Amino acid sequence: MKAAVMRGIGNINVEEVPEPEPGPDEIKMKVAYCGVCGTDPEILEGRFGLMPPDAGNEPRIIGHEASGTIAAVGSNIKRYQVGQKVACNFRSPCGACYYCRNKMEHFCRSGYHASGAYAEYALYNEQAVYALPDDISLEIGALLEPVSVAVHAIDVANIHPGGSVAISGAGPIGLLCLELALKSGAARVLVSEPVAEKRQLAKKLGADVVVDPFNENLEEIGKQFTDSRGFDTVIEASGSLEAAKQAISLADNCGTILWAAVYPRDAEVGVRPFYMYAKELTIRAIFTSPYSFPRALNLLPRLDLKPLITHIVPLDDIKKVFELHKEGKAVKILVKL
Ligand SMILES: [Zn+2]
Ligand SMILES: [Zn+2]
Repeated sequence: MKAAVMRGIGNINVEEVPEPEPGPDEIKMKVAYCGVCGTDPEILEGRFGLMPPDAGNEPRIIGHEASGTIAAVGSNIKRYQVGQKVACNFRSPCGACYYCRNKMEHFCRSGYHASGAYAEYALYNEQAVYALPDDISLEIGALLEPVSVAVHAIDVANIHPGGSVAISGAGPIGLLCLELALKSGAARVLVSEPVAEKRQLAKKLGADVVVDPFNENLEEIGKQFTDSRGFDTVIEASGSLEAAKQAISLADNCGTILWAAVYPRDAEVGVRPFYMYAKELTIRAIFTSPYSFPRALNLLPRLDLKPLITHIVPLDDIKKVFELHKEGKAVKILVKL
């Protein structure tokens, strides 16, 4: 089969590789689309410490936001059949370890990890597979994983009906958080994003105010928009350290600041404890999407997801995918298999 194989930093090429065959507990999916995650270019470029330091030039297939049809099932699989349209999680917890039994399945130490999906076929275990309803296309299905991340973000963002929310970054996670914040009852939503096309999209998806943080005074506009108070919830979804720091000053008393992005492993952000005390602020972060795939699946028909897919690129053009991502104008790029 064809797959985009990464061999060391910055080196990715489409190659012919052996087709994976499912074990008794595995499902083999013919991949239709695999979304490009913000972390994929970081993995490829060796930033953020997302690759194990000893990985070297070991061939590796990445890609974890996949949809497709089931091509084969292992002998122990009862719930799924060949031909079913599905979308998948890339990791599934063991269900038996300390973390799995204590509401922290995302910290499972012995879970299953799917094979990479920038490939014609990928393997999953049963818990990682979600059947897509008939009226959900495979393109939209490929957004199940990012939607699950936004669901987890909203789970901890402390948004209440009538509240105010600021979001930095109008990439897929920022825009999905925007849609879900509105559905959760947020009444005033500001989105900060340097790229004009993405600001327009945020406006179209329901943001009341959009701000260019490089050329406008975000803090001042935020104050004006919230009657000089600041926001009940600030969601940082850009991955910018400046934005992560500024999120703290955008929050109102008792506000929640949510860091919903991946940042460089060794980076630090200065926080003044007195300021946290005096305003009784909470800083939260999220890691992956525990327990949120089933709800993300329910939400697929209820969210406006099509406008988020700005590019569909065939696997053969995998290098173009990373160039497009670098240009910064794309929202969600899907790799088509
Ligand atoms: Zn992802
Ligand atoms: Zn576990």
